[in-house]
Amino acid sequence: MEEDKVTCGVRTVVVYGPSGMQRQTRSVHCPAGNGTVSLEHCETCAARVATVASADGDRTHLACRVDAEHPARAVTVSELMPRTVVAVRPELRADVVLLALVEHDRGGAPVVDEAGRPIGMVSITDLLDEYQAMRRAARSPAEPPSRPRLVGDVMSSGAYTIPDGAGVEEALAELTRRNVKRLMVVGDRGQLVGIITAIDLLRACPELPRRSSPALAEAHPCRFHGQSATGEARLQDRERLSA
Ligand code: SF4
Repeated sequence: MEEDKVTCGVRTVVVYGPSGMQRQTRSVHCPAGNGTVSLEHCETCAARVATVASADGDRTHLACRVDAEHPARAVTVSELMPRTVVAVRPELRADVVLLALVEHDRGGAPVVDEAGRPIGMVSITDLLDEYQAMRRAARSPAEPPSRPRLVGDVMSSGAYTIPDGAGVEEALAELTRRNVKRLMVVGDRGQLVGIITAIDLLRACPELPRRSSPALAEAHPCRFHGQSATGEARLQDRERLSA
């Protein structure tokens, strides 16, 4: 049987609960068609050729030998999504999540149950009441603090998911069907392994032009030159208008 060498990315899920980080799991979508496997499982697999690590020692990819004809070698959402996702448990205090989202420059976080399955999403806009409560407490420190809300009190329940082995077309169709911008990516047991957005998927579409300039120039004819404006010309236009 002819074999080929392929690489697959290691995904990391970090889950925070009331007592801090509760779990950190590393997994891989196996290109040989073995589903979602733990990184520890890969380390003992006969098909593994090498484990690639970053400069700080974090294992990022695996190289494996797979059947050259294997259909599972198509690009999957697992290969396109960001490698690390931070999730929270519903028992975590909402004000703590607000501070963490601001600190990590994130607009939201998936909420998972005890088994790591996605059950909802908490976004920064769900947490604006926590910000107001913090302001009130800072202004009137003598007032008794209000009962802190938990993630479970403020999150949007429900999760739109896609299996980690799904292809680009399938994921785009699901986004369209659900009319959402992102999907939670799940492994074989329904556990969260990542998040994929429409942007992640569209970047992988070979039909899309690599550069936006020609399409944008067509959409915004330049008033000074009587022709399509490049990004640079539009910048000059703006400078002239504001002078
Ligand atoms: S090492 Fe083995 S189990 Fe792990 S991804 Fe490669 S083929 Fe699959």
